[in-house]
Amino acid sequence: MNTPSSNSYDAIVLGAGAAGMMCAFTAGQRGRKVLLIDHADEPGKKILISGGGRCNFTNLHTPPERYLSANPHFAKSALRRFAPEDFIALVDRHRISWHEKGLGQLFCDGSARQIVTMLLAECAKGNVETRFGHSVCELEHADGMYRLSCGNETVTAPALVIATGGLSIPKMGATGFAYDLARKFGLAVLAPRPALVPLTLGKDEMLFQSLSGVSADVVARAGTVKFREAALFTHKGLSGPAVLQISSYWTPGEEIAIDFLPHSGSAWLIEAKRKQPRSQLRSVLAHALPARLAEALAERTGVRGELANTPDRMLDHAQRLLSDWRFRPTGTEGFARAEVTAGGISTDELSSQTMQARNVSGLYAIGEAVDVTGWLGGYNFQWAWASGWAAGHAL
Ligand SMILES: Cc1cc2nc3c(=O)[nH]c(=O)nc-3n(C[C@H](O)[C@H](O)[C@H](O)COP(=O)(O)OP(=O)(O)OC[C@H]3O[C@@H](n4cnc5c(N)ncnc54)[C@H](O)[C@@H]3O)c2cc1C
Repeated sequence: MNTPSSNSYDAIVLGAGAAGMMCAFTAGQRGRKVLLIDHADEPGKKILISGGGRCNFTNLHTPPERYLSANPHFAKSALRRFAPEDFIALVDRHRISWHEKGLGQLFCDGSARQIVTMLLAECAKGNVETRFGHSVCELEHADGMYRLSCGNETVTAPALVIATGGLSIPKMGATGFAYDLARKFGLAVLAPRPALVPLTLGKDEMLFQSLSGVSADVVARAGTVKFREAALFTHKGLSGPAVLQISSYWTPGEEIAIDFLPHSGSAWLIEAKRKQPRSQLRSVLAHALPARLAEALAERTGVRGELANTPDRMLDHAQRLLSDWRFRPTGTEGFARAEVTAGGISTDELSSQTMQARNVSGLYAIGEAVDVTGWLGGYNFQWAWASGWAAGHAL
């Protein structure tokens, strides 16, 4: 514990997002003197815009397989020690009402601001000092102490927590600060890349671009990974939960496959021909898909005229095409539209128990800055809470 001096702390947490606030109050409530710094004028800006303003604050099911990382085992310990039930208990203690929206995703009934207010109240309970709207100008590490100058103030602590997030949504203040800091201390950083991000399509897929605003229940697949959820056509390409999920697994140049008929058996069109021989493909497809999409897909298959006049082998071919529609995205909409950043500070550098750097004493990294990226649906906040809690308990 530090000797009292106004500018010396037990720990300085950089970044007052989900992970930083969780870490700061956990350590503060354990009696540590904590300073929480953010360059933004208010904390938790991403929490405020999350989940369409209602914050999908966790997911009832957070097995480690739903996280991407170069080391798939790294997140296990923290996720086990601070589970969704622990965060739900906190939310309940603050009388924030919530609901499950499907697929285990929990949202506030009211507003995401309730989560930020709760985290700040917990920080106050832990006597966490805060500096918002402050950038760190200089940082030194000597004699076991981190010394930061921030405005015209210099602060010191034996522990420094990097919680400044990833590169997603730069216009909200996201920076590469975590990576620069990590590299400064010799920690490896795995190339950050946009994840949970819309994919863009080239001219060959122009037909799809004319469908902007249409959505459908599909299975999206990249390699062996697949997700069944909604896909949404945009004027640049494809988005919607199924596509955002698959984007995290997609590598540039790779093909994506979409099954537009996940609800239909393999001989669905041939059966339709027997039952509705006078129908055209587009009207049969319109039973399963939005009309505009059905029309566009029917045109792409080349099947015209009544089903009765279409040979079974053509219907079989059309069915296989519609169940395994292949295309190569030209790219993604980048960090400007990515919900998270995959890659980041290598987990090889950190203890999975404490999030402390193995070779730099007193340096910790948590949250999105670390190479752990969750699925869409509350998984990323759960990682932020769990990694923040792990570090907060170790400080
Ligand atoms: C639009 C959108 C919606 C989302 N919705 C959800 C959702 O519903 N559920 C879910 O689980 N996840 C959601 N996410 C992802 C989730 O917001 C992040 O995974 C999570 O916020 C990461 O927490 P963090 O604390 O690591 O980083 P952040 O929340 O990004 O916090 C980092 C903090 O560091 C500060 N900072 C950055 N650089 C500096 C610097 N140089 N100096 C000082 N401070 C700095 C930032 O101002 C920020 O306050 C969403 C993301 C976006 C963009």
